[in-house]
Amino acid sequence: MGVEYKHMTFVRGRYRPSAERIARFARALADEGWIASPKTLREKKVPPSRLPKAASRTGAMVHLPGPKWEPAPFAPTAEWLRSQKPHLKLSWPMVDVLEHGWRFPIEPLPYLRKGLSYELEIHWSRHYLDVVSNVEDWPVFSGRCVCGTALALPRKHILAPSFYRTTCPRCGEDPATFESGQLLHRFAIAIDCGKNLPEEGTLPSFDASLRGVRNHFFSAKFTQVGIIC
Ligand SMILES: [Zn+2]
Repeated sequence: MGVEYKHMTFVRGRYRPSAERIARFARALADEGWIASPKTLREKKVPPSRLPKAASRTGAMVHLPGPKWEPAPFAPTAEWLRSQKPHLKLSWPMVDVLEHGWRFPIEPLPYLRKGLSYELEIHWSRHYLDVVSNVEDWPVFSGRCVCGTALALPRKHILAPSFYRTTCPRCGEDPATFESGQLLHRFAIAIDCGKNLPEEGTLPSFDASLRGVRNHFFSAKFTQVGIIC
């Protein structure tokens, strides 16, 4: 445990791309070298033991409530993505990035560069997710509509993330339009940097060419936030 950093870009509100688009985006990430296929991992001689166990065979993993990770297909099809309803958190781990000649998706490079690693994640949900962080001046969503109705869906597991309805069943309001609901989203791309924290005083952002790939597939306004947890 300890302090870790995650860089997120997400689209506020209801925006949620199709499964087909996510599948094509994942293939583009592989083509551009932002995620590594099992073949690439073999060519680069990445020992499977360096990867999280769930991803050691396929190069990708999917998060299940628990929190538990299971192997996922490296190049997910639209059918597979749709079968993961109602929420998908898909992750591709990349280890020893500089040693293998890969690029790091966040600029500038973190302070700690030895064994630089990251996990590229896609969050894709039917319901709203919040951004949970210890950043003090961020809005904290109360989980309630302005009319008082609770919008959190029942959790299947105590460690599962909280999901919220996109529409209040009583008055029809969309909680993402509330001042406190600014961080609610259904689609996010996140870079989990683990202990590779950004250097103090820097403002990390997505690598420009990764941003280009993202913007090619998703015409939406992305918000970026850095999460220390
Ligand atoms: Zn309401």
